[in-house]
Amino acid sequence: MSEAVLETKDLHKSYGKGSNRFDALKGVTLSIGRGESLAIVGKSGSGKSTLMHLLALLDRPTSGEILLNGDDAARLKGRILNTTRNHTFGFVFQQFFLVPNTSVLDNVMLPLKIAGIGSRARKIQAMEALDALDMSDKAKSNATDLSGGQKQRVVIARALVNEPSVIFADEPTGNLDSATGAVVEDILLDLKKDRGITLVLVTHDADLAARCDRSIFVKDGLILEQELSA
Ligand code: ADP
Ligand code: MG
Repeated sequence: MSEAVLETKDLHKSYGKGSNRFDALKGVTLSIGRGESLAIVGKSGSGKSTLMHLLALLDRPTSGEILLNGDDAARLKGRILNTTRNHTFGFVFQQFFLVPNTSVLDNVMLPLKIAGIGSRARKIQAMEALDALDMSDKAKSNATDLSGGQKQRVVIARALVNEPSVIFADEPTGNLDSATGAVVEDILLDLKKDRGITLVLVTHDADLAARCDRSIFVKDGLILEQELSA
């Protein structure tokens, strides 16, 4: 499976200890192909976000393995882990997580700043990303002043700016009205199609899941079934 960008083997994740222990993932084995769009579907509380956080190396499993490009991700620690995450992944969450009272441009430049890119190059790359999302005219606006749909475009521009190989999106349309949500869905799926970016999308929207190459259904911390879209 050298074509897999991410693989998990018998992934378990428990929160809490003793009588408070909750087993959120109970043995998830999964392979995500390079350039694939994968929908993670399931009811609230089934373990979707937990799985996504582990895949994105934002949290550690209780047991089991995660392979990134075939390498054991458990070996990545500290600064190397942060750098790898910053260079390889882009994130789009339901809550926009934009830095308030800061310009759109500064928000989009942030991952580049973290990556140590110089200020000139930062600005050029961030403006390109904003341009791709039709948001360059808002570069100087305060990120707090935008509509939900505009905020999510800025978030996607920020997710794109480091040219990630994988974008993780957790309920990306959850805070948007359906028309705006549909636009954001199109943008994400086009990134997959046009740029070959792997898309890992958490959703409980069956229609959106059907637009992905493959869906996995999570229930009570386990993958129930996998389905290829027509
Ligand atoms: P989903 O994204 O499918 O709604 P989550 O992965 O967020 O589900 O959560 C799965 C289960 O794990 C839920 O029952 C949730 O309450 C529990 N859980 C998630 N995060 C934590 C945490 N940090 N501490 C304790 N329990 C948690
Ligand atoms: Mg969730």
